[in-house]
Amino acid sequence: MRSPDSYWLDTGPTWTGSSGALPRRTGVCVLGAGVMGSTLAYWLATAGLRPLVLERNSAPAMGSSGRNAGRLIQGGNAQHALAIEKFGHAEALAIYRATLTNRDLVREVAAREGLEATRFPTAKLDLAVTEDEALELKRTAEALTADGIEAEWLDLPAAREAFGTGLPDTVLGGLYRPDQDAVHSVAYVRGMAAAAARHGADFACGVTVTSVEAAPGGGWLVTTDAGRVLAEQVVVALNAWTPRLLPELAPVITPVRGQLVQTAPVPFRIPQWGLDRGLLYGGQAPDGSLLIGGLRNTVPGRDEGIDLPQDDNTPAFSPDLAQRLADALPSLLPEATGVPVARAWSGVMAFTPDRCPLVGAWPGAAGLWVMAAFNGHGMPYSQVMPEQLAERIRGGRGDGIPSAFDPARFL
Ligand SMILES: Cc1cc2nc3c(=O)[nH]c(=O)nc-3n(C[C@H](O)[C@H](O)[C@H](O)COP(=O)(O)OP(=O)(O)OC[C@H]3O[C@@H](n4cnc5c(N)ncnc54)[C@H](O)[C@@H]3O)c2cc1C
Repeated sequence: MRSPDSYWLDTGPTWTGSSGALPRRTGVCVLGAGVMGSTLAYWLATAGLRPLVLERNSAPAMGSSGRNAGRLIQGGNAQHALAIEKFGHAEALAIYRATLTNRDLVREVAAREGLEATRFPTAKLDLAVTEDEALELKRTAEALTADGIEAEWLDLPAAREAFGTGLPDTVLGGLYRPDQDAVHSVAYVRGMAAAAARHGADFACGVTVTSVEAAPGGGWLVTTDAGRVLAEQVVVALNAWTPRLLPELAPVITPVRGQLVQTAPVPFRIPQWGLDRGLLYGGQAPDGSLLIGGLRNTVPGRDEGIDLPQDDNTPAFSPDLAQRLADALPSLLPEATGVPVARAWSGVMAFTPDRCPLVGAWPGAAGLWVMAAFNGHGMPYSQVMPEQLAERIRGGRGDGIPSAFDPARFL
């Protein structure tokens, strides 16, 4: 069974910004109009370039970007205390700070481009149900505080207060971080794409790219089902589909299915939350409905390394997983008992072995760039990585991209 459309796709604005025939030549060609490709086009266009974006779907945001939970969670994939152990303090802090810069950019750009209605403020509460996890989260609260970042370990009564509704006694407490954002994913990404187009970017939707090769006279030959384009520079922003064009990344990028369940609207507001090291997570849509996702890997081999659909972005949908997610909600949120499920959907994420994305130059190939594999966690980087990569493409330093994200580490 293929996944139904997401709430965001059903309630987001329609896209009318695509141009007609492909040009024969372009300066920068961006492959993929998810949040990464669309936002990169925005930063390139606001710098005076005229990027061409190629997208196989009829509109931007029909891939993972239009099927996610819309949460812009600050920090990298690992909790800060664990990231410090993994990458060293300087690099872990660079990763965390990138997501804080991202938060500020999201707000700035949303205000500048009339996208305020697509963004809504929230907080994040990571809940611990085991002593080990509680310790990890307490250490993270301390490490963040030491780095001047607002975070606090809350014991159960305080966590209940922050959650605003009755958490069960099995919760030991939680790491609370205020000042977070969530977005209506499709409205936000299409808003970015429309802003990019207003500033001079061209979007060609309904065009599937089949190969990228070095052109004999310099530059890159992009072959599509609608013709060929010679580009001076190419950015591959194809999420889990990236290895189709860059097969060297096949051993590095694992396609992973993510699934979400959405309830009917509820009359209370809760912050974004994570439980069991993010294995179960949730948030709330602007209409008050609850989102719950995760439980990946509870059936070995079901969600990791899935076969990617050739023609679109909707992986197989598991009614069994949807049921289990729906069943999990009342055990955390007793107030949600009896609230009907409104819909459920799935999408494709791209994971790397070290859980860091690939952002930067393709080694030894001038003018070829990659920005992909955000490990189920792309939104917290969705302005800052495109902005920094745009700077590199224009010959600048772009040194806000953490070195842990350099694609060369795998190549
Ligand atoms: C269920 C679920 C929940 C999630 N929740 C969150 C969350 O709350 N917070 C968060 O930060 N992240 C979340 N994520 C992950 C987040 O959605 C991704 O990290 C992010 O959207 C990646 O953006 P992207 O632009 O790289 O990929 P995509 O949005 O997938 O964009 C890639 C684009 O490339 C296009 N494409 C592919 N092949 C070709 C081709 N050959 N030619 C032309 N175009 C092509 C696709 O159609 C697609 O539009 C979630 C993901 C899922 C599935």
